Amino acid sequence: MDRRNFTRTAFAAFGSWWIGRNGQGQEQSGQQQTGSSFAKSYGELAPDTATKKHIRRYVRDTAPRFDIPSYTGLRYRDNVPDTLDIAERAKLGINALTGITDPNADYEIYWLVNFSLNPPRMAHDYNDWVQNVEGLMEALPLLRLATGSTLNDQVDPVWMTGILRSIGPDGLFYVPLEECPWTRISTPIAYLNPVWSPTGQKLTIADSSIEQIANSGTCQRIIGTMTVYYLRDGNPMWKDLIEKMIRRLASTAVLQGDYAYLPSGSIEPGGKFDTSPMPSGYMAEEISARPIQGLAQYYKVTGYEPARELAAKLSRFVRFHSQYYKPDGTPMIGADERAWFKDYDPAFHDMENLQYGGHGHAHGIGLLSVLEYSAAVNDPEGLFFVRTGYEWMKANGSALVGFFPEFFMPGYSRSETCINADMIAMALKLSDAGVGDYWDDADRWIRNHFLESQLVDSGWVSRLAKRSPTKPLLPNETGEHVAERNTGAFAGWSAGNDWVVPSAQHENSIMHCCTGSACRTMYYVWQHILNFQDEILSVNLLLNRASACCDIYSYIPYEGRVDLKIKQLCRQIRVRMPQWVDGGSDQVSCAINGNPQSIKWHGRYLELGPAKPKDRITVKFPISEQTVHDTIGGVTYRLEIRGSTVIAIDPPGRNGPLYERAYYRQPTRWRIVDRFVPDSEITW
Ligand SMILES: [Zn+2]
Repeated sequence: MDRRNFTRTAFAAFGSWWIGRNGQGQEQSGQQQTGSSFAKSYGELAPDTATKKHIRRYVRDTAPRFDIPSYTGLRYRDNVPDTLDIAERAKLGINALTGITDPNADYEIYWLVNFSLNPPRMAHDYNDWVQNVEGLMEALPLLRLATGSTLNDQVDPVWMTGILRSIGPDGLFYVPLEECPWTRISTPIAYLNPVWSPTGQKLTIADSSIEQIANSGTCQRIIGTMTVYYLRDGNPMWKDLIEKMIRRLASTAVLQGDYAYLPSGSIEPGGKFDTSPMPSGYMAEEISARPIQGLAQYYKVTGYEPARELAAKLSRFVRFHSQYYKPDGTPMIGADERAWFKDYDPAFHDMENLQYGGHGHAHGIGLLSVLEYSAAVNDPEGLFFVRTGYEWMKANGSALVGFFPEFFMPGYSRSETCINADMIAMALKLSDAGVGDYWDDADRWIRNHFLESQLVDSGWVSRLAKRSPTKPLLPNETGEHVAERNTGAFAGWSAGNDWVVPSAQHENSIMHCCTGSACRTMYYVWQHILNFQDEILSVNLLLNRASACCDIYSYIPYEGRVDLKIKQLCRQIRVRMPQWVDGGSDQVSCAINGNPQSIKWHGRYLELGPAKPKDRITVKFPISEQTVHDTIGGVTYRLEIRGSTVIAIDPPGRNGPLYERAYYRQPTRWRIVDRFVPDSEITW
């Protein structure tokens, strides 16, 4: 069950397809070339009444001018082992981020997808705004930076203009509610009510006079998104808007000594939040934890002290007063979740004595937010809090494949990609912060359930849909090229062996919050594969990747082998050995330009000494297969695992089966890819 239905139940009372399959601009072939530094200018845009059916009534009529700098870097074609390749998956992610949009409504996404109806369809409703809240807009420029892809780049300026026209005179982000007939479908009232009018009236979101609303949720991820824009073009306009938004959010916070929480409900333009009781449980996290990540990201970039102060106070609220975590970080079931669980599913009736668990992504994104702040200010207590929560979740999902339940409840059968993405993000960032060594967790989860949950080959979608009788489309739905447009998107309710298992309570296939969370996490993965600092190259994850200092060619899991093509002078090269290779193993070998090289182990890393541009380093190590049994979502499966990659599962799935990867037992296959190395990266 998705959070839309969750909150509706719990509190409630709560065009055309234009995608070029190969994209434009990313198919530059042959010789190495650098991009131009040309930037396109936008802004002062009036509504395009000629081509759109739905003209949004934003809080501002026009947007300030802005540029979108070209994604410049080195482009070349390369022959690489046909193994997991994050840049290639990120290109698919861009296909989904831009393909699920509606050109008739400022490229607003269709947030919900159902592959089991005939025809398969995507639906608009209020929750389309996950494109903001869950980071689809934040992920798009990050994935373009990682890949150089310009696929469907007509979307970017319209999204950016929409953000700018949604920021009111008070600095908050206002969601427009008028003119698109679906914006009042499935409105999550627990997030939005009450709505304070400019005259101080207490309204509900059902009031048809309300044209725009703002709250902490509409603003939180926009801070991070605009920070990415600022890092790309350096335009002080973004900085001014971000800082005004932070000051305004801080002024609405309810201060309680050394901590603070943000108010419930929403305001219309000119409205003021009234005093708000302290929320607890799920809604405490949703309102006051999520903004921490963007505040911390902006503080890291600029040192803006009000961002740090607000993030610090919200973090203390989340850790000690939200009643959604124990003070040590263990996830607790919120009182609001508990009330809902009882009515939702008979399976939850035995939960009376359960204290720990609850909604996966809500707890995960809350922890990730505290992690971002704690790492930014080097707060060990905050990092330990996150580590305890992470370890608890790891112990209560499948730590083998990276399947974590939508709800941490015993035997809960479905995973939501959002929580899987949160767990990988935490594994990378906790390892980076030095409070744990979770590289192997990340490696297993990336290779298995996380990227098996990305729609790559959509052939099964039409077969699944044809099992059902034809059903007419509703006015808020589209059936045009749904499988193709969602290629690169991520599953909303996967099982341990299946992309989708439709049932009466889980009839949909994708909620695109998951595509936002997963695309952001793909950038984190791409960024963390290697690190090059002070002429020391550390390869943390043995995955294919191009970069300015070295290109990585990973043969895993065909063979236990990784090649490095060195491109910059390195005084030390460190390569982390995967989990299945014993420390100090004499079966590990290394050669530089074909000459055997001595190896020194330092923890899990091999130290290979210095190297110079054009050196070719080959590291070989054993790889083997094992058969294991693991309980995933309450079902016991037999898994065949090569290295850390699951290559077969039994019983197999019947709709969109996972792990059909026995080809990894064959000799290494190769593929031609278009590589892109950006001139500069964003640390995110
Ligand atoms: Zn999700």
